[in-house]
Amino acid sequence: MWRNYRRAAEVFQAILLTGLPFISFKGQSALRFDLSELKLYFFGSVIWIKEFYLILAALLFFLVLIVFITAVFGRVWCGWLCPQTVLLDLTDSIAKRFGESRRKTLMRVLLIPFSALVSLTLIWYFVPPLQTMQSLFSSVPVTGFFLVQWAVIYAELAFLGRKYCTTICPYSMMQNALFDKDTLIIEYDNSRDNECMKCHDCVKVCPVGIDIKEGLKSDCIACAECIDACIAVTEKRNMKPFPGYKGNLLRPKTFWLGGVTVLVGILLAVMVYSRSEVTFLITRDSEQLPQGINRYSWSMYNNTGAPRELELSAEGEFSIIGETVLLLEPYSFKKGKVLVRSRGGKDEVVFRIEDDGVSIEKKAGFL
Ligand code: SF4
Ligand code: SF4
Repeated sequence: MWRNYRRAAEVFQAILLTGLPFISFKGQSALRFDLSELKLYFFGSVIWIKEFYLILAALLFFLVLIVFITAVFGRVWCGWLCPQTVLLDLTDSIAKRFGESRRKTLMRVLLIPFSALVSLTLIWYFVPPLQTMQSLFSSVPVTGFFLVQWAVIYAELAFLGRKYCTTICPYSMMQNALFDKDTLIIEYDNSRDNECMKCHDCVKVCPVGIDIKEGLKSDCIACAECIDACIAVTEKRNMKPFPGYKGNLLRPKTFWLGGVTVLVGILLAVMVYSRSEVTFLITRDSEQLPQGINRYSWSMYNNTGAPRELELSAEGEFSIIGETVLLLEPYSFKKGKVLVRSRGGKDEVVFRIEDDGVSIEKKAGFL
């Protein structure tokens, strides 16, 4: 039965999304956006907000991935992996064990702690889980976010529920444009309509309340519940179920669109992981100083999970006045200013920062 596979996928999704903030790489969350320093911890690396090209590349990858999954697998996300579907299915499967009469009320009760967990999980993608729990009742912003999100998530799940999929969800609205004749869908076999017992079990189990016998509707989330319900009726008669999956997965579009998706994913990974371990920027300040002295503003980004001790130097006939050994904490950013004195050099200074792993040169003008 499809329901068993779907439950397995849903439990896997729930564990993955809730557990990801607890996985750490070199002391930091695997995936977390740090609002205070505007940086994204990304599986052992860090992406700074100034690296906007990487954010655009990541968005492009997700766009291509969505187009690929939707064009080939139809609404597999909606019926099998969407957090909304997962939460409603899991709470419903618990609630229905206590009888049909109390099912809806019990589901609404169960959604209270489930919504609280979702609210916490969302915060964990911005504030580390331990810090979130410590500041939950001591930090006004964290407590406020937690309570507001909890209330909104609960209201959406408990009172809007599956109606969200057919009325508000933007992904749902754009899907039809991506479908073609070979996209995987769930379809009723009209050619055998005269054999159908018209028991309407497929309609009774449909979470969005549609009748698959009337043809494909945009409301269908491809959850396959109607297939399971029909199997329960037809297998006793040695018949095939009337609704079933229909589509052609092994077609040229699957390969070229899948290939493009993999290529963009590889490109994104190369862009993230092939960056220098340290980013170094330096510019001359435009201010009036005694002849032969210029001031420069520098900034350094440690893109790794290891602390660094970098030495700043100026080549040739220039010397740096002040501190030249700079300590950078893991995944950190530092900025500062430095004075440079000319001992005969002019027009341009070549700065270098180096430690055991990196050596970066940057040029800046000298007046
Ligand atoms: S569950 Fe199957 S047999 Fe019953 S009405 Fe639906 S399609 Fe027909
Ligand atoms: S028609 Fe079938 S696959 Fe579509 S939402 Fe209803 S039960 Fe799920």
